[in-house]
Amino acid sequence: MKGAARIFRTLVAVVAIGGVVPSTHESAAVPLVGPAGSSAPSLVIYFIDVEGGQSTLIVTPDRQAMLVDAGFPGNDDRDPKRIMTAIHDAGISRLDYLVLTHFHQDHIGGVPAIAAQIPIGAIVDHDVLFDSDRFTLAAFHAYEPVRSESRLIHPKAGDRLPLKGVELVVASASGQTLSRKLRGGGELNPSCTTFEKQAEDPGENAQSIGISLRYGSFRFLDLGDLNWNKLAQLVCPANLIGRVDVYLVSHHGNLDSNLPQLLAAVQPRVAVINNSPNKGGAPETLAALHRLQGLEGVWQLHRSVRQGSENFADEYVANLDGPDQAYWLKLTARRDGRFSIVNARTGFSGAYPMSHQPGR
Ligand SMILES: [Zn+2]
Repeated sequence: MKGAARIFRTLVAVVAIGGVVPSTHESAAVPLVGPAGSSAPSLVIYFIDVEGGQSTLIVTPDRQAMLVDAGFPGNDDRDPKRIMTAIHDAGISRLDYLVLTHFHQDHIGGVPAIAAQIPIGAIVDHDVLFDSDRFTLAAFHAYEPVRSESRLIHPKAGDRLPLKGVELVVASASGQTLSRKLRGGGELNPSCTTFEKQAEDPGENAQSIGISLRYGSFRFLDLGDLNWNKLAQLVCPANLIGRVDVYLVSHHGNLDSNLPQLLAAVQPRVAVINNSPNKGGAPETLAALHRLQGLEGVWQLHRSVRQGSENFADEYVANLDGPDQAYWLKLTARRDGRFSIVNARTGFSGAYPMSHQPGR
């Protein structure tokens, strides 16, 4: 727990609150950043617990909404229900975009139930299905009726999605990655001298749509389940991304996304891991984050029970037990780069002041 001292510097307050998915008592714990709905404009991101899949709800300062992925299918619509709870908490009645990073069931499984409950302006996906295992095929076939009735966007790396007040750039899509640096990127990455390529992944993960989101001085990076070789293309030999404030650790923190050259390049202030007790959150990934210089906080959607996993302190873990719990992590960011994250299980809040590092 070498990083504990650094992490606890950011501790603002601990507010004990009860109930499932609490969300209304957060403002007292977050003096730096106003909550969604307050007079101060803010970008809000919900990291929703879908048990090791992805679902990330982004609400812009202009109250546009983008959902990135929709969790697993089945389980009596467990994941769509959790996502709709977050959507209602955010006060959103329409999704401007539903971005599906790729077609695995832990990312598109909840789409039919979500689409039945809320209008969707456009669906963003990578177009061509790559995997043919039965789980992926079943999820894709369930998604197809929604897809055929939706406005579809198949972006290329480097494309922008129009959202007011924020800059959203597609960093990867359909197996391609950025060919030009983003603002703040372009420096040579010395750690690339030790990079070793792995066998190419012929499946869906390597097709993931990844996004870079900028709001004023604040930057967020979500690369879906992009893995080793494709991640390296973004940061070797030059770091095309630049530095980010918050990095949603790619592929749920699995070993094949634990690329040291990426962490060295984007130098996140905060990492968020969308793992479950047994999925993602690899011991090696957690260890790499414990060692990473300059990291101010790591937040996990679940405590990992994988052998050898050194979890971060419970305050930074949204869910300590199995799938009966469903607490989210909620991030609020201001234009000047200040941001906070609240653990909905406890109300514990971490506040991160303006960065003094150039180049974000
Ligand atoms: Zn996944």
